[in-house]
Amino acid sequence: MALKAGPPLDPMSAATTERALSLDSTSTHANGTATPFSAASPASFGDHAPSLSDAGPSRSCPNCGTPVNGSWCSGCGQESLAGPGACKRTVRRQWTRIRHSLLTLVSHPGQLTVEFRDGQRARSISPWRLALNVAALFLALSFVTDFRTANIAAQDRSGTLQGMADTAARRANIDRLTMTERLDHRFNATYSMLMIVSVACYALLARLTHFRSRESWSVHFVFALHLTAWIFIANLIYYLAARAFGLPAAISVDTTIRPASVALFALIFSWQLVYVALAFRRVYADRWPGASAKAAIFVFVALVVDNAVLFLSFWLTVETALRAT
Ligand SMILES: [Zn+2]
Repeated sequence: MALKAGPPLDPMSAATTERALSLDSTSTHANGTATPFSAASPASFGDHAPSLSDAGPSRSCPNCGTPVNGSWCSGCGQESLAGPGACKRTVRRQWTRIRHSLLTLVSHPGQLTVEFRDGQRARSISPWRLALNVAALFLALSFVTDFRTANIAAQDRSGTLQGMADTAARRANIDRLTMTERLDHRFNATYSMLMIVSVACYALLARLTHFRSRESWSVHFVFALHLTAWIFIANLIYYLAARAFGLPAAISVDTTIRPASVALFALIFSWQLVYVALAFRRVYADRWPGASAKAAIFVFVALVVDNAVLFLSFWLTVETALRAT
């Protein structure tokens, strides 16, 4: 019976199975049983920190006890060549993944999804982690981009958001500034949580625009996650540019509309259109006319969804802030 190569979904059971199967196992694990662990946890090394001198045909994984043959444990996926230089190797490997993921994400639309679908997964950061980290970076830079509740409310020309914040301030018996501070504390958490709504909508949109495609739902979801990560990067550039040129980030039909804001918005919107069309061509093998039409629908609906998510996040933030008082 051959075990699947690479890290299995359940390292514990795979490690136990392999140990049970291997009669000549020379596992020197402390108590002979696999201990619960996290693959990245240094604590799980215990007294059995691996070293290069362990190299040999009968080594066992210090993390899970599986007999190791090669540079990686087939039970838990941990690198078996630890010791001097292990930290440097891990950092270098991680950096290579981050660089590959970010460069490919920006310069080759859809390529990361194609690589993931085709099983080339170790070369980049997992789609979830990439989307979450880019979103976290975007929110962490809100002091530069001014992506904060006060500014978001000010950008809404209808005054609905500002009205919500003011009503909340009155009900909580505090001034507008104190309320804004309270909202800012909660907004990032709510907005990150609601990112799942955007991702689900993008996946559904990708599925609906490719109903004849034989790609599975997992591909649509990975596509949605990669697109989410890219949208945060594009938005970061957009907000930074808007701030640098002193332009409002939101466009609305207004008498004081400035041509420069429209130009910037048109630029970012066209970039998004071209990006999604190229990604559709790469992932779903669409032809140019189909890819362009689908991209136009996708980008338009995504813009509506993103604004709805932003509005919903703001409303939820106000409601939770009120409930906490
Ligand atoms: Zn192991």
